[in-house]
Amino acid sequence: MIISVPEAVAKLQTGGIVAIPTETVYGLAGRIDDESALKQIFTVKQRPFFDPLIVHVADIATAKRLARDWPPVFDVLTSAFWPGPLTLITRKAELVSPLITSGLETVALRWPDHPVALQILRELQIPLAAPSANLFGKTSPTSAAHVEKEFSGAVPVVDGGESEIGVESTVLAYDASTPNVLHILRPGGISRPQIERVLLENNLNFDLVRTSSAASPGHLKAHYQPNCPVIILDDKPWTEEIRKRIEADLDRPFPYVHEMKLGASAQVAARKLYGEFRQFSEVQGGLIVITRTKDNTAPEWEAVWDRIERAASFTF
Ligand code: AMP
Ligand code: MG
Repeated sequence: MIISVPEAVAKLQTGGIVAIPTETVYGLAGRIDDESALKQIFTVKQRPFFDPLIVHVADIATAKRLARDWPPVFDVLTSAFWPGPLTLITRKAELVSPLITSGLETVALRWPDHPVALQILRELQIPLAAPSANLFGKTSPTSAAHVEKEFSGAVPVVDGGESEIGVESTVLAYDASTPNVLHILRPGGISRPQIERVLLENNLNFDLVRTSSAASPGHLKAHYQPNCPVIILDDKPWTEEIRKRIEADLDRPFPYVHEMKLGASAQVAARKLYGEFRQFSEVQGGLIVITRTKDNTAPEWEAVWDRIERAASFTF
């Protein structure tokens, strides 16, 4: 069901949950101060309670109120990248419910850059917990139609057009016990080179370390999975021999092969990725083939390949 912004605000006010557009992907939102709203998010997504939620705010002052620690590097990062696809993790303030953080002492915070999300946040005046509006482990939605399909129309959704970024936010954690390190828990909409440039411009000396955390199941090997096999070809052509091996392994025929062209721009590839996953996984007996080349593996492509690798069944 498509609803208007005032209807969404009213629903959220009374503890309902609503899918809202953001520039990364559509989120399934509920107010952070309502336990039943938070529980509904997990139930509707079939998301395990050990997977914490990102809190969305519409200004930095609110983010600071939800954090117990706010290291100076966060001022630099937020002034460069907020509003935008960067999520920051730090120790949480008392008032943040353990339901949001899965009992962790840390909280994930983001100021999204989408006019509709911002209008809703400003009118509601309460931050929103909002994971991607898809069933746990599945491809994230980048349009209102994706959300409608994912939940068979059972979740009200505000249509804000197609998500501009198309992959989830970069999740960056600060931990006072490793004060000169920023941990990339999930590559995303802000690339490593973008972060490095801002740190350098501000004479900040941090190691940017890719850290996998049990607390970030976005990092499970099998995540972001479309409903058909995805095959990565490492700089080699698609052949009948490869098709035969896949058919033997999965024990069914795959007559339809969609060779997904990533193109030359990582931004454009990210924007189109999930929509194409959804579109082509509707084809019975279809599979998606993506070729990794030297032209699409520069650092700007890290988030795109992270998602493709988690979606992929085989690499040849
Ligand atoms: P989603 O909103 O569905 O894109 O997922 C949010 C991502 O942020 C998941 O991978 C979470 O596990 C991660 N996350 C949220 N809060 C924390 C936290 N306090 N510590 C580590 N990771 C977190
Ligand atoms: Mg998600």
